[in-house]
Amino acid sequence: MIRRGITIGLIVCLLAAAGYGGWFYNQVTTYTHEQISDDVYAIYGFGGNVGVLRTDIGTVLVDSMTFTMQGKRVRKLAEDLTGKPVVMVINTHYHLDHTHGNPAMPADTRFFSTSATVRHLLATEPDFWDENADYLPRETVDDDRTVQIGNKSVRMLHAGRGHTDGDLVVLFVDDRVVHTGDLMFGGRYPNIDLEAGGSVRDWAGTLDRVSELHFDRVIPGHGPATDRDGLAAYRAFIAELAVIGAHAAAEGWTLEHTLAHTTLTKNTGMSDFVIPLIMHIDTDFVVRRAWEEATGTVTARSR
Ligand SMILES: [Zn+2]
Repeated sequence: MIRRGITIGLIVCLLAAAGYGGWFYNQVTTYTHEQISDDVYAIYGFGGNVGVLRTDIGTVLVDSMTFTMQGKRVRKLAEDLTGKPVVMVINTHYHLDHTHGNPAMPADTRFFSTSATVRHLLATEPDFWDENADYLPRETVDDDRTVQIGNKSVRMLHAGRGHTDGDLVVLFVDDRVVHTGDLMFGGRYPNIDLEAGGSVRDWAGTLDRVSELHFDRVIPGHGPATDRDGLAAYRAFIAELAVIGAHAAAEGWTLEHTLAHTTLTKNTGMSDFVIPLIMHIDTDFVVRRAWEEATGTVTARSR
């Protein structure tokens, strides 16, 4: 009887694993895309949104998704959309769902990020980036830089701390489209990487600097493309979160008390961000992160 129970349990586990595997395979092989302007597209899939710019000498990508096999598909789709080979990739930050497609790009691609991003990549995944050293961002932008790629200007701005301490925002100048990286999660609660220098406190000010750029459309790091109003609503949510953290710290509230006595009001339309077995980001998560930063309970990773 016991053995039969174990056998049935094992079969149930295997079926569950197979089901999860099927779901996962479907996730990483499914892509949609949207035309954002004459020469800009967004590619959506399992991982960060990829921004695609057509120039007359090649294609510029913002981020490269989660796996190298995804990078191959993203590259093919982007090159089909633009009719030009990938010549430049900008990694908005170090998280693997924005960077691990890099090794699928042409060998002579120019890779850009902040130097903080390079530091985090090497600190968190030294083996991966040792094996793929040619695909590590070699050109760093820590302030504000515009590069000319054929007939298009691409502006890269590090506007301050937010999701991490190394987020790079990319403005496709001629098309008036901005890719915010994970400084914005569209329609869902954000991950907040305090351990990599992210900051709820600074985040709204960082978004204010982003708002000063000249753009009409916004590609967030996750979620659907939006516009200035969408970005402003998101900024209001982040600002409210910072106020909650500051208030809790000033009152000396425990985390439990803070979670029990906090009501978000600027979170209309936001849903939880769940990847089964890996990630669960909801209101409690974001409030906890705000509390941790405000009360100084974060252990910063070496930067
Ligand atoms: Zn991220």
